[in-house]
Amino acid sequence: MLSEANGSIAGAGALLNIMRDGRARTRAELIQLTGLARSTLAQRLDALLSRQWIVPTEEAISSGGRPAVAFTFNRTARVVLAADLGATHARVAVTDLGTAVLAERAAEVPIDRGPEETLGWLQHTFEEMLAETGHRPEEICGIGVGLPGPVEHSSGRPVNPPIMPGWDGFPVPEWLGSRLGAPVLVDNDVNIMALGEHWAARPEADHLIFVKIGTGIGCGIISDRRLHRGAQGAAGDIGHIQVASALDTVCRCGNVGCLEAVASGAAISAKLCAAGVTAEDSRDVVRLVRGGNTQAVQLIRQAGREVGDVLASIVNFFNPSVIVVGGDISEAGEQVLAGLREVIYSRSLPLATQHLTITGSELGDRAGVIGAAVMVIEHVLAPGSVDRSVSPA
Ligand SMILES: [Zn+2]
Repeated sequence: MLSEANGSIAGAGALLNIMRDGRARTRAELIQLTGLARSTLAQRLDALLSRQWIVPTEEAISSGGRPAVAFTFNRTARVVLAADLGATHARVAVTDLGTAVLAERAAEVPIDRGPEETLGWLQHTFEEMLAETGHRPEEICGIGVGLPGPVEHSSGRPVNPPIMPGWDGFPVPEWLGSRLGAPVLVDNDVNIMALGEHWAARPEADHLIFVKIGTGIGCGIISDRRLHRGAQGAAGDIGHIQVASALDTVCRCGNVGCLEAVASGAAISAKLCAAGVTAEDSRDVVRLVRGGNTQAVQLIRQAGREVGDVLASIVNFFNPSVIVVGGDISEAGEQVLAGLREVIYSRSLPLATQHLTITGSELGDRAGVIGAAVMVIEHVLAPGSVDRSVSPA
């Protein structure tokens, strides 16, 4: 932590963190909460006010005397640019510091067109939306991007992404950051979906697993309220865990027996095609299930059991309180959840399933873009980052 001796306002970030719940607080309340000396508190409040992280409001006091000045977190102090880039589909938003969406777009953007075309589109779209919401580029505090493949979190670069030709090692943060003039954070799509769902729908859950079943299968892990990325950012890649029912099936990763090779949207649509039912992708599968196609219903239930088989072990190992199921295939709703619950509740240890909730995603196809914003907000509002922002350069 920086010291006050060299001119920085150490501790301002910690103070802002207390105020993030949005409640207006007077100086007296803040002194009581923090134990800070009156002069120290004044110095930190001034620093936060000067950067507009907080704003003064008039708070009437109960005794009927004159109103005392109170302060609240200013969630409109900066804007966040967030993008969830999928295999074929992109969702983009401008949000405030509380993830309220100020503008949003969805578009068909095939990721296999390569990084420059895709990110060029993203830059252009962000600039348009920023203008639309009346914000200036200086107000952008950060840009969050989710990609449909493995990402090394420290560098923000994709690592051998199977469905993203041309993206391997591409410097996404540098490319986008230099054009939009703000720091860029990149993560894989399922990690940001886990962040979004946790923030918006399950903030009380300390340990949560978000499973995405779409063209591929993966999971995001919230452990002790924080995203667990693992040593290299590869944590949660359950799609390539071997399952007994898949031992004669070759996966796109080159191994045999991967979960993804039998239970993903791509695998289910291939099985339907082999049986003479036309289904190109996950969305077609869901359409067939909703239309009552028996083969599709059976296959999706079986896929639920196969994913459940892997999750049963993960439940024993990790003991989550909530499993959220998202991704295109989860739109088939109870048909997927039924197979999943069946296996998890029969195979996991009773203590681990006693209070376990298994549910569909509340945010649906917005989980990723909200999560991309959350990733930026948590970074920008981390006490150390706020301290640096109020320090004289
Ligand atoms: Zn595989």
